[in-house]
Amino acid sequence: MENVIVLGSGPAGLTAALYAARANLNPLVITGPDLGGQIATTTDVENFPGFPDGLTGPELTEYMQKQAERFGARFEFDTVTSADLTQPPFKLVGNVEYEARSLIITTGASPRKLGVPGEKELVGRGVSYCATCDGFFFKTKELMVVGGGDSALQEGLFLTKFASKVQVVHRREALRAGYVLQERARKNEKLSFIWNSVILQVLGDKAVKAVRLKNIQTGEESEKPVDGVFVYIGHIPNTDIFKGKLAMDEEGYLIVDGKLHTNIPGVFAAGEVHDKWFRQAIVSSGYGCMAAMETEKYLASLE
Ligand code: NAP
Repeated sequence: MENVIVLGSGPAGLTAALYAARANLNPLVITGPDLGGQIATTTDVENFPGFPDGLTGPELTEYMQKQAERFGARFEFDTVTSADLTQPPFKLVGNVEYEARSLIITTGASPRKLGVPGEKELVGRGVSYCATCDGFFFKTKELMVVGGGDSALQEGLFLTKFASKVQVVHRREALRAGYVLQERARKNEKLSFIWNSVILQVLGDKAVKAVRLKNIQTGEESEKPVDGVFVYIGHIPNTDIFKGKLAMDEEGYLIVDGKLHTNIPGVFAAGEVHDKWFRQAIVSSGYGCMAAMETEKYLASLE
């Protein structure tokens, strides 16, 4: 029986683990499929305070994990596939079964897919959601990045280190990304934009060869040869296992109160699993801290 299980290992989970460990709660972190979550797939993290020269997402993850472990947090590399939250102790099932008096859910969000023919079939063969992971394989190749937010520009810029050409396909003519990234993108000679356009199909047999594009203003369709497609069009919260068990909004984000309590006492949620507005590593870390402090109070109230 665990005092507290932290479900997920992104900035929210790792910070919750640090604070729970320092409160002597001996937390168990169940990492989920990817240690570090989304930040571990991010290239340069330049806005996490305390690192004036920036650092990579995997470095930030490693430092946070080490810091939590230093105070006694334990890590289990497992993915929970079902949860029974009807009454404490809460029961979770992954490779093994877990029981806990309290739960901090930090399962985050996953990249949204385009949902077009060819995308699923060519994942890992030219279609990717992670420039850090796959950019290296596209030296001197021509790439497309889909999206108009910070992720599309940040990762598109990163890809120019490898690719000969990066075209950002965006469904509008105005970018959602912040000013700094927009400026950098406009100055980068390898990067260009295809405005008002969407990808209708990813073409290729063993690897991506081209995409079929549609200009949504003119209706004109065209085929453009390309070696890879990187998709950055937002996220979907990882809350499938909690459907019907925890209160969530119509998009699947968990509903919490101002102190991160879900509708079930003893179950807390922190980070992008409930926060669809800010989506910053530092914000998720802050939420992880809050959830751990509330968990400590909750456990104390049981005694
Ligand atoms: P985002 O801000 O939600 O942007 C998603 C982009 O994808 C938007 O431009 C959107 O178009 C487009 N899009 C959505 N659905 C689409 C579809 N079905 N087909 C084509 N395009 C579609 O997501 P994000 O860029 O991943 O950023 C998420 C959060 O993380 C933001 O708060 C961002 O500030 C933050 N972030 C910050 C940094 C940084 O500070 N350096 C880096 C990365 C991310 P519309 O614009 O038309 O809606």
